[in-house]
Amino acid sequence: MNRKQKKVLIRILIAAVLTLVFYIVPVENSFLRLALFLIPYLIIGYDILKKAVLGIVHGEVFDENFLMAVATVGAILLGEYMEGVAVMLFYQLGELFQSYAVGKSRRNISQLMDIRPDYANLEKDGKLEQVDPDEVPVGTLIVVQPGEKVPIDGVVVSGTASLNTSALTGESLPREVGEGDEVISGCVDMSGVLHIQTTKAFGESTVSKILELVENSSMKKSRSENFITRFARYYTPVVCYGALALAVLPPVANLLMGRPADWVQWITRSLTTLVISCPCALVISIPLSFFGGIGGASAKGILVKGSVYLEELAQTKYVVCDKTGTLTKGVFQVTQIQAAEAVAEEELLELAAYVESYSNHPISKSLKEAYGRELDRERVREVEEISGCGVQAYVDGKRAAVGNRKLMERLEIPYMAPQKVGTEVHVAVDGVYAGYILISDVPKPDAAKAVADLKAAGVKQVVMLTGDARNVADAAAEELGVDVVKSELLPADKVLEVEKLLAAKGAKEKLAFVGDGINDAPVLSRADLGIAMGALGSDAAIEAADIVLMDDDPAKIAMAMNISRRTLRIVHQNIVFALAVKFACLLLGAVGFVNMWWAIFADVGVMILAVLNATRALRS
Ligand code: ADP
Ligand code: MG
Repeated sequence: MNRKQKKVLIRILIAAVLTLVFYIVPVENSFLRLALFLIPYLIIGYDILKKAVLGIVHGEVFDENFLMAVATVGAILLGEYMEGVAVMLFYQLGELFQSYAVGKSRRNISQLMDIRPDYANLEKDGKLEQVDPDEVPVGTLIVVQPGEKVPIDGVVVSGTASLNTSALTGESLPREVGEGDEVISGCVDMSGVLHIQTTKAFGESTVSKILELVENSSMKKSRSENFITRFARYYTPVVCYGALALAVLPPVANLLMGRPADWVQWITRSLTTLVISCPCALVISIPLSFFGGIGGASAKGILVKGSVYLEELAQTKYVVCDKTGTLTKGVFQVTQIQAAEAVAEEELLELAAYVESYSNHPISKSLKEAYGRELDRERVREVEEISGCGVQAYVDGKRAAVGNRKLMERLEIPYMAPQKVGTEVHVAVDGVYAGYILISDVPKPDAAKAVADLKAAGVKQVVMLTGDARNVADAAAEELGVDVVKSELLPADKVLEVEKLLAAKGAKEKLAFVGDGINDAPVLSRADLGIAMGALGSDAAIEAADIVLMDDDPAKIAMAMNISRRTLRIVHQNIVFALAVKFACLLLGAVGFVNMWWAIFADVGVMILAVLNATRALRS
């Protein structure tokens, strides 16, 4: 509990004790009795009264402060001092509980996301100096010791260590890194000392990006939240006018019909309905549920950029996946090198690696890996990457092209057709065919299960789109069990395919696209819901996607879907439950079956139950 909450608790206790004492000790003088009860009333209610008055002054009359102020002042005017004080007491108790619950789930999330580094170590004259990570320029050498967080993204220059990435990815297995490996900020060094050369500024580093994303996630409101805000705006005034009507109309009708007016009874009923109708349970519990759902997801390495996306995920019926890097590892092994006459195999691989030297595509990384030697980037000029086809560049002054059949056809260069199945990388130099390299990728270990899980979670169709060759795509589709596969697509074709699916699906059904952000950013933003895989590294994907899966695990898609369903279920439970109890009490209150005591318990009780229910979302 923080200081503010403790202060409220003390006020509640003092007011409760005083009220009880004045209730037990009989005071004959009615004036003195009123004065005595006003003490606990003001102790517990002064801030509510102040807010209600300020609301009226600012023209925002109808809020829950106003409801409480009118109800309690009314009760006191009618001589029901106990009730007046008690309503304030329980209202404050409810508010306290709610602010405690919100604070607690906020703390939970920040604990889960405990990745913000406090400092970076610079080595100066053999001594370590701690500086603000914000002030470290790109390219600086920083030192990370065991137990410390990696503050900024970079490359290991010397040292080895195992890194705990669980706060980022939800993955409990440590990752071993050594010289030359890229490390991302937010991981915790568990063993050795690392010297890291930073490749990004702190503000651009993974850790800042992620924190920014989590902090902003509450801004993108879901439809349920917007519904509640709008609802409260109309609901409260309606209730107030209704209560006014209830206080005035029946007595006036009585008078007209020549019966006693019964003012006190009707005004009491009217005040009771005011207490009952306070909408706080709904207003607080719904954002709290989404907050919990987003927090629970981030603990599993699933970043949701806003509650609206959680809502859409629950309605997702079509999942479209990219192949390379999403369902497959994107780590290609060379299975065959076939050089044309007058070209050496070694030369072919070298050429390919050089042309690919600036590309981030999984194929390019694998070719560089296979070549295995340091690249002299000076030898490469005018690199031109053609999405979905390959790369062209000048190497040692010669125009070289590396890519698939589409690229060769585009350049009108005849090529050899390999016998074996695999992803083909054809190479040409100065318009003359030089041979091909056959590479093959393997599905991620969890990919087939991920597809099955999606089906089990109620997804109607899992579609795989890929720019890879037909035979490779079909083989992978068979192995993974996807429903539909479309191959040899350019990035623009992928958008067209997604648009076709979007047009065919029902209005309430959503379509999610899952990709790795390489060559598929346009589709990520075109789909109802863009999910980026293994985006720790690809900034484009973090920006374009609505949901980011921090490790490469495709099984997280179904997991995220289940979390979203659970969160929405909780939200709906709360809406239905709170409204049902409210309306029932309102009706009973209007006809006099519910007195103010019941009204208080109904209000606070519903709120506490709704908030408790909401906090379940965090543990999904
Ligand atoms: P996917 O849809 O499987 O993710 P991409 O759209 O990224 O694949 O690429 C489609 C195809 O284009 C690849 O299978 C490959 O044949 C070719 N290609 C794309 N980029 C490159 C590259 N940098 N080097 C060689 N081939 C490439
Ligand atoms: Mg791809």
